[in-house]
Amino acid sequence: MCHEISQQPLTDATTSLSQLRQLVAEFIRARAWEPFHTPKNLVMALAIEAAELMEHFQWLTPEQAEEIKTDQAKRSEVADELADVLCYVMALANRLEIDLSAVVHAKMLKNARKYPVEQFRGYFGPEDPRWPGRTSTEH
Ligand SMILES: [Mg+2]
Repeated sequence: MCHEISQQPLTDATTSLSQLRQLVAEFIRARAWEPFHTPKNLVMALAIEAAELMEHFQWLTPEQAEEIKTDQAKRSEVADELADVLCYVMALANRLEIDLSAVVHAKMLKNARKYPVEQFRGYFGPEDPRWPGRTSTEH
């Protein structure tokens, strides 16, 4: 039984990002892992966890990848890797003192300017074969 972390279930609807960041920080602090959690090591761990997440989708058809949503065992394994990725994102943000809400908001504002709804709705860009104005000789 783990006593350091509350057994009370958390949900996105009732948990703030700040609370999750604190949970990760306390886990690391309790183990005195700060010396090992350099930004370099954290970003490498993040990439490794992202690769572990990708492993679950490797070689699947798009349809098979969609089926993970309804396969409880596979969905649980994917969720576990997704949690690993997010934990390392938060550990890195904690270490670099980056406010994730502020940077995500700024990034979404930048993306909204880069990809205006009226121009990109339903298309991924000029490479999209359905892109308006594209001629049949282009590829
Ligand atoms: Mg993992």
